[in-house]
Amino acid sequence: MNGQNQKPKQEREREREREREQEQEQAQALKALAPKQSLAALGLSKTFTLHLSGPAQLKALDGVDLSVGPKECLGLTGPSGSGKSSLLRCLYGNYRLSSGDVILKHEDSVVTLSKASDRLILAIRVQTIGYVSQFLRVIPRVATLDIVSEPLLTVGWSQDRSHKAAGEILDRLRIPKKLWSLPPATFSGGEKQRVNLARVFVKAWPILLLDEPTASLDAKNRDSVCSLIIEAKERGSAIVGVFHDLDFLNRVADSQIRLSPPRQAS
Ligand code: ADP
Ligand code: MG
Repeated sequence: MNGQNQKPKQEREREREREREQEQEQAQALKALAPKQSLAALGLSKTFTLHLSGPAQLKALDGVDLSVGPKECLGLTGPSGSGKSSLLRCLYGNYRLSSGDVILKHEDSVVTLSKASDRLILAIRVQTIGYVSQFLRVIPRVATLDIVSEPLLTVGWSQDRSHKAAGEILDRLRIPKKLWSLPPATFSGGEKQRVNLARVFVKAWPILLLDEPTASLDAKNRDSVCSLIIEAKERGSAIVGVFHDLDFLNRVADSQIRLSPPRQAS
């Protein structure tokens, strides 16, 4: 019988070599992330290649450093076009980094994002990082209650328990019960944004990325989102957010980083 121990010697050596490489990467990543941090960007740069009338390079981020730990909220400020949304997307593993890196704690390990496989990035998005995008992409034909329950179902919660938690958060964000069974495609901008927020705040995340979460909300709903952010912090989330109004920023953020549009190469 060909058991596990019967692998050819060369293959076993390759495996050991891979394990050694992984251990070295882990050790380097651990060194880069201070013990109390959950997420760090080190010299992070992002340049887009535009194909308009011939290829052109657009620098969106130039050597950004940041770090954030549990129970902390870091606010990103800067004018429109200074790269705030791009930075959040880089932290979420949506964009390939041009240089620098993102290091984060995921379960019991420390991950270097530029070296993470697609599978690991997906696992990070299920377990570790919650992200509220600036613009909601509506999932067609799925009921609101199911959209909001999904992050809990994915990590093994029962349907009853997930629906109960989803209902509670939808209530807090003032989405009327009669809308819960409908897909949000026909909802107003503010309602869609609140469904988007409910879907993230339904679960406790070690890391939360928020891109202008209150841009189209009225004062009452802004207050609810403020409470949800503060509760998430108290439960231990490390948060990086873009908050378009200064008053809101000052209520939730413990520190701030101001981005300015990078100088473009001529
Ligand atoms: P902010 O959120 O601060 O307004 P963004 O991160 O959206 O800034 O944009 C920063 C710059 O990068 C802008 O000049 C924008 O046009 C450009 N940009 C953002 N995303 C892309 C993309 N996917 N492709 C090309 N350029 C982009
Ligand atoms: Mg933006």
